Amino acid sequence: MNRPIAVIILSLLPSLTIAATLDSAQLAEEGVQTLIRYLQVDTTNPPGNEDRGVSFFADIFKAEGIRYTTAEAAPTRGNIWARLKGGDKPALVLLNHMDVVPADAIYWDEDPLSGAVRDGKIYGRGTLDMKGTGVLQLQTFLALKRAGRSLNRDVIFVATADEEAGGNFGAGYLVKEHAEIFEGVGYLLNEGGGGGFANNSPIFTVGVTEKIPFWLKLTATGNPGHGSAPQVETSVSKLLRALSRLENAYFKPRVIPVMKSYLQSVANLQTAYFKQKFTNIESAIQERNFLLRLQIENPGLAARLRNSCSITRLGASNKINVVPPVAWAEIDCRLLPDQDKEEFIEVLKAVVNEPDIEIATILAFSPAVSPITTPLYTIVSQVIDRHHPGALVVPSMSAGFTDSHWFREMGITSYGFAPILVPVEDYGGVHGNNEKMDIEAFKQGTVLLLEMVQQFVYD
Ligand SMILES: [Zn+2]
Repeated sequence: MNRPIAVIILSLLPSLTIAATLDSAQLAEEGVQTLIRYLQVDTTNPPGNEDRGVSFFADIFKAEGIRYTTAEAAPTRGNIWARLKGGDKPALVLLNHMDVVPADAIYWDEDPLSGAVRDGKIYGRGTLDMKGTGVLQLQTFLALKRAGRSLNRDVIFVATADEEAGGNFGAGYLVKEHAEIFEGVGYLLNEGGGGGFANNSPIFTVGVTEKIPFWLKLTATGNPGHGSAPQVETSVSKLLRALSRLENAYFKPRVIPVMKSYLQSVANLQTAYFKQKFTNIESAIQERNFLLRLQIENPGLAARLRNSCSITRLGASNKINVVPPVAWAEIDCRLLPDQDKEEFIEVLKAVVNEPDIEIATILAFSPAVSPITTPLYTIVSQVIDRHHPGALVVPSMSAGFTDSHWFREMGITSYGFAPILVPVEDYGGVHGNNEKMDIEAFKQGTVLLLEMVQQFVYD
């Protein structure tokens, strides 16, 4: 009974495959042109001007007959979203931020707002962070709409403002003021992971959690006075003592489960020294020499094995001959995602050890980790395996933060993932000079993301 059907399917298969390949090749080529135009839209934050990005996407949605909604958190700070209706499975959000960090053209080989193409790369601020991924998501979204097939769940494209400055005019605003977008949403894809190389082997990371920013302000008080008559103790002397203790503090290293499996997965790609350490990471972190060497060679990775604080802002007198009554410092602390904040404050107070110093919170997110035992994670792994047999797919934690925390806090499984295999030579471009996108990697990324989402939304 199955035989005739099998024959029909087999005879159809070659032409179907060719058609699918042609379509996705076309989609990818169209994406390249869209990315070049998108890079020319100046959404440098500050000030942002993401309303320009909103117009860019709105024009595309209009041409495709897709209904969309826009909202500004403040004048020019635009956000835009569009929804393809589907069945009642938990919806999927494709999230991207439109703003980019400033770029100084003097240090670039091509104008950062040009989208210039040279040697197979597209140059431009935002190619990697994250206009490239935004266009990847757009192409997938357009392909689903054009295909017109029924979806088993809603798919929502959301482009936001202000990620680079914390997201209060973007994702944070939408979560508070337009919560309806995220009703029934179970999954979200965002920046924060993707393809790269370790020892020439392709590796894909899926961001499942992030260190938690815990930004604090230390304020010291003391007797003011004249600079010509030094006192034994002042606000400044107290603050300096505290900061010196903080700078030398040893925050105990700790391996959380996602880091343990990550390091074990990548151990084989390391030099002999790090291979041995990564394989036995729990004992390795007891060695100060190992931690120091890791911090020198890979500070971002070392940061993922402990809580940390960077002293970044300082202030005291505004006049050279006045001893100020108040001196302050702002410190950028980042906690492991399972760290209790109150407990950390107690540790910090013990380090600072100055009764006349007050510690106040400037910013604190809630800890959250997305599970990897989900159908979406399985599909991501399967599609990568089809296209890059043997490539590692590993859950990871980022030392920095993205907009994903807003959604993990709501219980939405959020993955930092874009299937673009970024060549090693292009790594430094994120927030750096000559940020660029490898065109072939981008095209392949378009094909892969579409394939993943299709597998997720078609029954
Ligand atoms: Zn970004």
